[in-house]
Amino acid sequence: MKTKELFAIFGNPVKHSRSPLMHNYVFKKLHFKGCYTRIHLLDGAKLKETFFAQKLSGANVTVPHKEDAFKACDEVRGFAKDIGVVNTLINENGRLIGYNTDADGFLFAIEEFKNIQKVLIIGAGGTAKALSMKLKSSGLEVSVLNRSKPNLEYFKNSGFETFSWEDCPLCHYDLIVNTTSAGLSDENYPAPLEILRPLLEKSSFAADAIYGKVTPFLKLCKDLNITYKDGADMLLGQGVLANNYFTKGRYTLEEIKEEMKKSFSF
Ligand code: NDP
Repeated sequence: MKTKELFAIFGNPVKHSRSPLMHNYVFKKLHFKGCYTRIHLLDGAKLKETFFAQKLSGANVTVPHKEDAFKACDEVRGFAKDIGVVNTLINENGRLIGYNTDADGFLFAIEEFKNIQKVLIIGAGGTAKALSMKLKSSGLEVSVLNRSKPNLEYFKNSGFETFSWEDCPLCHYDLIVNTTSAGLSDENYPAPLEILRPLLEKSSFAADAIYGKVTPFLKLCKDLNITYKDGADMLLGQGVLANNYFTKGRYTLEEIKEEMKKSFSF
Protein backbone atom coordinates (compact mmCIF):
# COMPACT_ATOMS: atom_id res chain seq x y z
CA MET A 1 0.00 0.00 0.00
CA LYS A 2 1.32 3.45 -0.93
CA THR A 3 2.22 5.54 2.11
CA LYS A 4 1.07 9.14 2.41
CA GLU A 5 3.15 11.88 0.82
CA LEU A 6 4.20 14.55 3.31
CA PHE A 7 3.86 18.33 2.75
CA ALA A 8 4.48 21.31 5.03
CA ILE A 9 4.47 25.06 5.36
CA PHE A 10 7.70 26.73 6.55
CA GLY A 11 7.46 30.08 8.33
CA ASN A 12 8.21 32.19 11.39
CA PRO A 13 5.60 32.71 12.74
CA VAL A 14 3.67 29.80 11.27
CA LYS A 15 1.08 28.81 13.82
CA HIS A 16 -1.47 31.26 12.27
CA SER A 17 -1.28 29.51 8.89
CA ARG A 18 -4.47 28.01 7.48
CA SER A 19 -2.58 26.12 4.76
CA PRO A 20 -2.56 22.75 6.63
CA LEU A 21 -6.34 22.88 7.00
CA MET A 22 -6.88 23.87 3.34
CA HIS A 23 -4.57 21.28 1.80
CA ASN A 24 -5.50 18.42 4.13
CA TYR A 25 -9.18 19.06 3.39
CA VAL A 26 -8.56 18.89 -0.38
CA PHE A 27 -6.37 15.77 -0.07
CA LYS A 28 -9.10 14.03 1.91
CA LYS A 29 -12.00 15.05 -0.34
CA LEU A 30 -10.14 14.20 -3.57
CA HIS A 31 -8.77 10.92 -2.10
CA PHE A 32 -5.14 11.95 -2.49
CA LYS A 33 -2.77 10.18 -0.10
CA GLY A 34 -1.17 13.25 1.42
CA CYS A 35 -0.62 14.88 4.82
CA TYR A 36 0.29 18.58 5.32
CA THR A 37 1.86 20.00 8.48
CA ARG A 38 3.56 23.16 9.83
CA ILE A 39 7.30 23.64 10.36
CA HIS A 40 8.39 26.60 12.49
CA LEU A 41 11.72 27.48 10.87
CA LEU A 42 13.90 30.10 12.53
CA ASP A 43 16.82 30.08 10.09
CA GLY A 44 15.89 30.36 6.39
CA ALA A 45 19.33 29.01 5.42
CA LYS A 46 18.23 25.64 6.88
CA LEU A 47 15.22 25.34 4.57
CA LYS A 48 16.65 22.88 2.06
CA GLU A 49 18.24 20.50 4.58
CA THR A 50 15.05 20.52 6.67
CA PHE A 51 12.89 19.87 3.58
CA PHE A 52 14.89 16.76 2.63
CA ALA A 53 15.46 15.60 6.24
CA GLN A 54 11.67 15.57 6.71
CA LYS A 55 11.26 13.65 3.41
CA LEU A 56 8.79 16.17 2.06
CA SER A 57 7.18 15.85 -1.37
CA GLY A 58 6.35 19.55 -1.43
CA ALA A 59 5.98 22.65 0.70
CA ASN A 60 4.79 26.20 0.95
CA VAL A 61 6.95 28.96 2.33
CA THR A 62 5.70 32.01 4.19
CA VAL A 63 7.09 35.05 5.98
CA PRO A 64 10.09 35.65 6.16
CA HIS A 65 11.67 32.83 4.14
CA LYS A 66 10.46 33.26 0.54
CA GLU A 67 13.69 34.77 -0.72
CA ASP A 68 15.72 32.07 1.07
CA ALA A 69 13.44 29.53 -0.62
CA PHE A 70 14.40 30.97 -4.01
CA LYS A 71 18.10 30.59 -3.13
CA ALA A 72 17.58 27.02 -1.90
CA CYS A 73 16.09 25.74 -5.17
CA ASP A 74 17.92 23.58 -7.71
CA GLU A 75 15.61 25.02 -10.35
CA VAL A 76 13.06 27.84 -10.31
CA ARG A 77 10.24 27.89 -12.85
CA GLY A 78 7.89 30.52 -14.28
CA PHE A 79 7.20 33.94 -12.75
CA ALA A 80 9.24 33.15 -9.57
CA LYS A 81 12.39 33.39 -11.72
CA ASP A 82 11.64 37.04 -12.58
CA ILE A 83 11.20 38.13 -8.97
CA GLY A 84 13.51 35.86 -6.95
CA VAL A 85 10.68 34.87 -4.61
CA VAL A 86 9.43 31.30 -4.11
CA ASN A 87 6.38 30.24 -2.08
CA THR A 88 5.90 26.69 -3.39
CA LEU A 89 8.50 23.91 -3.40
CA ILE A 90 8.30 20.52 -5.10
CA ASN A 91 10.60 17.52 -4.65
CA GLU A 92 11.20 16.34 -8.20
CA ASN A 93 13.34 13.18 -7.98
CA GLY A 94 15.51 14.67 -5.22
CA ARG A 95 15.78 18.10 -6.85
CA LEU A 96 14.12 21.12 -5.25
CA ILE A 97 11.90 22.96 -7.75
CA GLY A 98 10.46 26.40 -6.90
CA TYR A 99 7.36 28.27 -8.05
CA ASN A 100 5.47 31.41 -7.05
CA THR A 101 1.68 31.18 -6.78
CA ASP A 102 1.10 34.31 -4.65
CA ALA A 103 0.87 36.78 -7.53
CA ASP A 104 -1.74 34.88 -9.51
CA GLY A 105 -3.58 34.23 -6.25
CA PHE A 106 -3.75 37.98 -5.68
CA LEU A 107 -5.04 38.70 -9.21
CA PHE A 108 -7.80 36.18 -8.53
CA ALA A 109 -8.57 38.01 -5.26
CA ILE A 110 -8.99 41.47 -6.77
CA GLU A 111 -11.04 40.42 -9.82
CA GLU A 112 -14.11 42.08 -8.33
CA PHE A 113 -12.38 45.48 -7.92
CA LYS A 114 -13.22 47.29 -11.16
CA ASN A 115 -11.39 50.07 -13.06
CA ILE A 116 -8.09 49.70 -11.22
CA GLN A 117 -5.25 51.58 -12.90
CA LYS A 118 -3.14 53.22 -10.17
CA VAL A 119 -1.94 50.99 -7.30
CA LEU A 120 0.09 51.70 -4.16
CA ILE A 121 1.82 48.68 -2.64
CA ILE A 122 2.86 49.15 0.99
CA GLY A 123 5.84 46.95 1.87
CA ALA A 124 8.93 45.84 -0.01
CA GLY A 125 9.31 42.18 0.91
CA GLY A 126 8.67 39.01 -1.07
CA THR A 127 4.93 39.51 -1.36
CA ALA A 128 5.37 43.10 -2.51
CA LYS A 129 7.75 41.93 -5.24
CA ALA A 130 5.39 39.25 -6.49
CA LEU A 131 2.33 41.52 -6.50
CA SER A 132 3.96 44.64 -7.90
CA MET A 133 5.69 42.82 -10.78
CA LYS A 134 2.52 40.94 -11.67
CA LEU A 135 0.34 44.08 -11.58
CA LYS A 136 2.89 46.02 -13.62
CA SER A 137 3.06 43.27 -16.23
CA SER A 138 -0.76 43.40 -16.38
CA GLY A 139 -0.46 47.06 -17.46
CA LEU A 140 -1.17 48.82 -14.14
CA GLU A 141 0.73 51.80 -12.77
CA VAL A 142 2.35 50.64 -9.51
CA SER A 143 4.14 52.64 -6.78
CA VAL A 144 5.80 51.16 -3.70
CA LEU A 145 5.93 52.63 -0.17
CA ASN A 146 8.15 51.06 2.49
CA ARG A 147 9.33 51.75 6.04
CA SER A 148 13.03 51.36 5.25
CA LYS A 149 14.88 52.51 2.14
CA PRO A 150 17.34 49.65 1.36
CA ASN A 151 14.55 47.22 0.42
CA LEU A 152 13.21 49.77 -2.09
CA GLU A 153 16.34 49.48 -4.26
CA TYR A 154 15.03 46.40 -6.07
CA PHE A 155 11.83 48.26 -6.99
CA LYS A 156 13.65 51.43 -8.05
CA ASN A 157 15.92 49.36 -10.29
CA SER A 158 12.88 47.61 -11.77
CA GLY A 159 11.34 50.93 -12.84
CA PHE A 160 8.80 51.50 -10.03
CA GLU A 161 8.13 54.83 -8.38
CA THR A 162 9.21 54.29 -4.75
CA PHE A 163 8.64 56.17 -1.52
CA SER A 164 9.62 55.92 2.10
CA TRP A 165 7.61 57.45 4.91
CA GLU A 166 9.35 60.84 4.64
CA ASP A 167 8.66 61.52 0.97
CA CYS A 168 5.35 59.85 0.13
CA PRO A 169 2.98 62.16 -1.79
CA LEU A 170 -0.55 61.96 -0.44
CA CYS A 171 -2.25 61.51 -3.81
CA HIS A 172 -5.07 59.34 -5.20
CA TYR A 173 -4.66 55.60 -5.81
CA ASP A 174 -7.41 53.30 -7.09
CA LEU A 175 -6.13 50.50 -4.88
CA ILE A 176 -3.86 50.42 -1.81
CA VAL A 177 -2.45 47.05 -0.75
CA ASN A 178 -0.82 46.21 2.58
CA THR A 179 1.83 43.57 1.92
CA THR A 180 3.75 44.24 5.15
CA SER A 181 3.56 41.95 8.16
CA ALA A 182 2.43 44.91 10.31
CA GLY A 183 -0.76 43.77 12.00
CA LEU A 184 0.00 40.06 11.62
CA SER A 185 1.02 39.41 15.21
CA ASP A 186 0.90 42.97 16.54
CA GLU A 187 -1.43 45.97 16.29
CA ASN A 188 0.79 48.16 14.10
CA TYR A 189 -0.21 50.14 11.03
CA PRO A 190 1.95 49.52 7.93
CA ALA A 191 2.77 53.27 7.81
CA PRO A 192 2.25 56.18 10.22
CA LEU A 193 -1.39 57.27 10.50
CA GLU A 194 -0.63 60.78 9.26
CA ILE A 195 0.33 59.20 5.91
CA LEU A 196 -2.03 56.25 5.83
CA ARG A 197 -5.27 58.05 6.63
CA PRO A 198 -5.09 60.72 3.88
CA LEU A 199 -3.94 58.10 1.36
CA LEU A 200 -6.86 55.82 2.18
CA GLU A 201 -9.32 58.72 2.25
CA LYS A 202 -8.48 59.36 -1.42
CA SER A 203 -8.48 55.73 -2.54
CA SER A 204 -11.33 53.59 -3.92
CA PHE A 205 -10.28 50.09 -2.82
CA ALA A 206 -7.94 48.50 -0.29
CA ALA A 207 -6.62 44.99 0.27
CA ASP A 208 -4.55 43.37 3.00
CA ALA A 209 -2.42 40.28 2.35
CA ILE A 210 -2.97 39.26 5.99
CA TYR A 211 -5.97 37.03 6.59
CA GLY A 212 -7.85 35.66 9.59
CA LYS A 213 -7.97 38.90 11.53
CA VAL A 214 -9.10 42.47 11.11
CA THR A 215 -5.77 44.27 11.09
CA PRO A 216 -5.46 47.93 12.17
CA PHE A 217 -5.08 48.69 8.42
CA LEU A 218 -8.44 47.04 7.65
CA LYS A 219 -10.10 48.64 10.70
CA LEU A 220 -9.11 52.02 9.31
CA CYS A 221 -10.49 51.10 5.85
CA LYS A 222 -13.74 50.12 7.49
CA ASP A 223 -13.93 53.39 9.46
CA LEU A 224 -13.29 55.34 6.24
CA ASN A 225 -15.98 53.38 4.34
CA ILE A 226 -13.62 52.06 1.68
CA THR A 227 -14.36 48.81 -0.16
CA TYR A 228 -11.74 46.42 1.19
CA LYS A 229 -10.87 42.77 1.56
CA ASP A 230 -8.46 40.76 3.66
CA GLY A 231 -6.04 38.13 2.32
CA ALA A 232 -8.44 35.16 2.38
CA ASP A 233 -9.16 35.12 -1.37
CA MET A 234 -5.47 35.53 -2.12
CA LEU A 235 -4.81 32.63 0.21
CA LEU A 236 -7.38 30.56 -1.64
CA GLY A 237 -5.99 31.51 -5.06
CA GLN A 238 -2.36 30.71 -4.20
CA GLY A 239 -3.44 27.54 -2.37
CA VAL A 240 -5.36 26.14 -5.35
CA LEU A 241 -2.36 26.64 -7.63
CA ALA A 242 0.05 25.14 -5.06
CA ASN A 243 -2.20 22.12 -4.52
CA ASN A 244 -2.23 21.54 -8.28
CA TYR A 245 1.60 21.31 -8.16
CA PHE A 246 1.49 19.03 -5.08
CA THR A 247 -0.96 16.64 -6.75
CA LYS A 248 0.91 16.88 -10.08
CA GLY A 249 -2.07 18.00 -12.15
CA ARG A 250 -4.18 14.97 -11.21
CA TYR A 251 -7.21 17.21 -10.48
CA THR A 252 -8.46 20.31 -12.28
CA LEU A 253 -8.09 23.76 -10.71
CA GLU A 254 -11.89 23.93 -10.49
CA GLU A 255 -12.06 20.62 -8.55
CA ILE A 256 -9.39 21.80 -6.12
CA LYS A 257 -10.97 25.26 -5.72
CA GLU A 258 -14.40 23.84 -5.02
CA GLU A 259 -13.09 21.70 -2.14
CA MET A 260 -10.56 24.19 -0.80
CA LYS A 261 -13.22 26.89 -0.57
CA LYS A 262 -15.27 24.65 1.74
CA SER A 263 -12.34 24.43 4.16
CA PHE A 264 -12.72 28.18 4.78
CA SER A 265 -15.93 27.62 6.70
CA PHE A 266 -14.06 25.84 9.53
P1 NDP B 1 8.66 39.89 4.17
O1 NDP B 1 9.28 39.57 5.47
O2 NDP B 1 9.35 39.51 2.91
O3 NDP B 1 8.42 41.51 4.10
C1 NDP B 1 7.85 42.17 5.16
C2 NDP B 1 7.63 43.65 4.80
O4 NDP B 1 6.86 44.20 5.86
C3 NDP B 1 8.89 44.49 4.66
O5 NDP B 1 8.71 45.43 3.63
C4 NDP B 1 8.95 45.20 6.03
O6 NDP B 1 9.56 46.49 5.97
C5 NDP B 1 7.50 45.40 6.32
N1 NDP B 1 7.18 45.53 7.73
C6 NDP B 1 7.29 44.58 8.70
N2 NDP B 1 6.86 45.07 9.88
C7 NDP B 1 6.48 46.34 9.65
C8 NDP B 1 5.96 47.38 10.47
N3 NDP B 1 5.73 47.19 11.79
N4 NDP B 1 5.65 48.57 9.90
C9 NDP B 1 5.86 48.77 8.59
N5 NDP B 1 6.37 47.84 7.74
C10 NDP B 1 6.68 46.64 8.28
O7 NDP B 1 7.17 39.29 4.23
P2 NDP B 1 6.28 38.67 3.07
O8 NDP B 1 6.28 39.63 1.92
O9 NDP B 1 6.64 37.26 2.81
O10 NDP B 1 4.81 38.64 3.77
C11 NDP B 1 4.18 39.82 4.14
C12 NDP B 1 2.76 39.56 4.67
O11 NDP B 1 1.91 39.05 3.64
C13 NDP B 1 2.71 38.56 5.82
O12 NDP B 1 1.85 39.08 6.80
C14 NDP B 1 2.12 37.31 5.18
O13 NDP B 1 1.39 36.54 6.13
C15 NDP B 1 1.19 37.91 4.13
N6 NDP B 1 0.92 37.01 3.00
C16 NDP B 1 -0.35 36.55 2.76
C17 NDP B 1 -0.63 35.72 1.69
C18 NDP B 1 -2.01 35.24 1.44
O14 NDP B 1 -2.16 34.25 0.73
N7 NDP B 1 -3.02 35.91 1.93
C19 NDP B 1 0.43 35.27 0.78
C20 NDP B 1 1.71 35.84 1.08
C21 NDP B 1 1.94 36.65 2.17
P3 NDP B 1 11.18 46.69 6.03
O15 NDP B 1 11.68 46.48 4.63
O16 NDP B 1 11.33 48.09 6.50
O17 NDP B 1 11.71 45.68 7.02
